[in-house]
Amino acid sequence: MEFTQSDKLADVCYDVRGPVLDEATRLEAAGSRILKLNIGNPAPFGFSAPPEVLEAVVANLADAQGYSDSKGLLAAREAVVRYHLRKGVTGIDPGGVYLGNGVSELIMMSLQALLNNGDEVLLPAPDYPLWTAVVSLCGGRPVHYLCDESAGWAPDLDDIAAKVTPRTRAIVVINPNNPTGAVYDRQVLENIVEVARRHHLMLLSDEIYDRILYEDAEHIATAALAPDLVCMTFNGLSKSYRLAGFRAGWMVMSGPRGHASSYIEGVNILANMRLCANAPGQFATVAALTEDGGAGDLVLPGGRLREQRDTVVKLLNDIPGVSCVPPRGALYAFPRLDPAVYPIRDDERFVLDLLLAEKILLVQGSGFNWPHPDHVRIVTLPAVDDLTDAIGRIDRFLASYKRP
Ligand code: PLP
Repeated sequence: MEFTQSDKLADVCYDVRGPVLDEATRLEAAGSRILKLNIGNPAPFGFSAPPEVLEAVVANLADAQGYSDSKGLLAAREAVVRYHLRKGVTGIDPGGVYLGNGVSELIMMSLQALLNNGDEVLLPAPDYPLWTAVVSLCGGRPVHYLCDESAGWAPDLDDIAAKVTPRTRAIVVINPNNPTGAVYDRQVLENIVEVARRHHLMLLSDEIYDRILYEDAEHIATAALAPDLVCMTFNGLSKSYRLAGFRAGWMVMSGPRGHASSYIEGVNILANMRLCANAPGQFATVAALTEDGGAGDLVLPGGRLREQRDTVVKLLNDIPGVSCVPPRGALYAFPRLDPAVYPIRDDERFVLDLLLAEKILLVQGSGFNWPHPDHVRIVTLPAVDDLTDAIGRIDRFLASYKRP
């Protein structure tokens, strides 16, 4: 008897931890040192969580033994509400907040509750690929709207509007964006909100990098511009608070709930079915959002992350045929490898060859649903020396890849 995977997985793809990572793991087991620039996981690169958050978890460990309420501890949900009120989101209360085992679980719940087979969801290209994968897993059809590299990777409004159909149910906004590092200005967000308003679409706004901002970038919450629309905002402790291993995230619903009572019932059933999010992570959420957690020190001028981002952008732009729009937020660079210079036909193969030759692990642009084999994503978390070494090796490898 052969056990085959379900047909539901036919279009599901998550290349951030895909076959190239398996190869890297194999090389490591055989004794190679691999420089991993593939996953936005701050802690292993020396970005520790704010100590007061860790202390709060330890102090509350005894109280974290049992299941909590399905939506989460009231104190944590109240802290989430205060956080989003400070960001200008109105009409929210703890009843519309759900704590999850990371934003990942909540993406799953929000879409499972929404989509019937064949329903469409508008997603950015490039995107954080979990969104696309989950739409497919839920029987939906991911429809990608293009982001424009020449406009700092802002979403192409005409493309969004042109792709709305009678089956469209929601627009996903990832801001700051993974993988591009774009931070959307008010006008861009207002225009997206207007499309949602015109076509009665739900807004799903992933704001997990909202506190990792460079230079003068300002983060504007989508929901703050859409008090009249149903909006789910996603955030958590994995990035700004460097606590990815705690699996602590939340989503908060805003807008007219009367228009969404059946959907809310669906989300509540799913929240009940998974019983609750891990309780120590919920205590971490209370402490992080109450104490402010010192999260802002990550990208101060002269801070490590800012310096690393500047180094990556400069070194990449120095390579002939490589151009990188400076990220204004998040933990990544998404450079373009000019096809006139580098004839890459299969970007997964390219990333695998780079791994084998130079022991550097990146993720190919197509892993983020980018439609051309001409981008890679580089995580900017390693120390400057490691990044300099890595980009030097990428440069050397690219020299061997050039068209004659
Ligand atoms: N959303 C985006 C845009 C991400 O980049 C990530 C992780 O890289 C996640 C969600 C997943 O976050 P979590 O660790 O909270 O599940």
